Amino acid sequence: MLILRSPAEMHEWSRGEIRNGKSIGFVPTMGALHKGHATLMENAADNNDVSVLSIFVNPTQFNVSEDFEKYPRTFDADVEVAKKHNVNVVYAPSVDSMYPDGASVLVQPGSAAERMEGAMRPGHFTGVTTVVAKLLNSVLPDRAYFGKKDYQQLAVIRQMVKDLDFPVEIVGIDTVREPDGLALSSRNVRLTSEHRSNAVSISQGLFAAREMHHQGQRHADDLRKIVLSSIGDGVDIRTEYVDVCHPVSLQPITDTTEGAVICVAAWFGDVRLIDNIELSPH
Ligand code: AMP
Repeated sequence: MLILRSPAEMHEWSRGEIRNGKSIGFVPTMGALHKGHATLMENAADNNDVSVLSIFVNPTQFNVSEDFEKYPRTFDADVEVAKKHNVNVVYAPSVDSMYPDGASVLVQPGSAAERMEGAMRPGHFTGVTTVVAKLLNSVLPDRAYFGKKDYQQLAVIRQMVKDLDFPVEIVGIDTVREPDGLALSSRNVRLTSEHRSNAVSISQGLFAAREMHHQGQRHADDLRKIVLSSIGDGVDIRTEYVDVCHPVSLQPITDTTEGAVICVAAWFGDVRLIDNIELSPH
């Protein structure tokens, strides 16, 4: 397995593979790998000739620099996980090689970025679209794998790839959860044990809302209330948003008959968790 450190090195490797007729699968991450990331790697390895995992804690997508500094970094362990999942290249560029002095062009995300994470974290999605565009241009993948855990991010990337004609297939992978339902996240390790137990209320609320939708409840606001009341308001617990949205445009909807996604962000102490659930059309 190779470790490559700059866009130029990455690009050269990928062009060689493409000349040899190989298909490339790509999994972009910020490291601190867990089983959710492993599922993306397995999909990339199984459905392509070669696979690339990027590990890059992207400073431009953190609107609070303290959060960037606190982000867990476990590079050596991540490399071992990548080896186990048949990754051919770990692409771990330095910040300087990604953003050399004078870099000033940004990719402006589309309408899917307006609400929720886009509203709560100004500049976040511009950082995401810019870095993903740069990574796609260096890795030149046939397919890129993103988790539905970050549902809005997936929708924003799909819009970017479509509107800017990136020649890549974007594949969304179902959220991997703990046995009790909590969505795996690199941030979970920062939860206190009490907040870890409370945090299960997010997925419980989402599953209950999905069940109500299956049973015929189509009013977005009633489904929203189920999630809100599940999370409740314990000590140091604060729900930032629960939004019922169109699954592609991510615009708010009032009726879930045609299908929907419910997206949540909530704070447990100083840890901000996000999760979501898809509601199938009736
Ligand atoms: P991250 O490095 O955690 O920002 O995420 C890298 C990729 O892994 C993104 O496409 C995420 O959506 C995906 N991912 C993160 N957590 C999960 C999970 N629990 N299940 C599936 N995919 C995930």
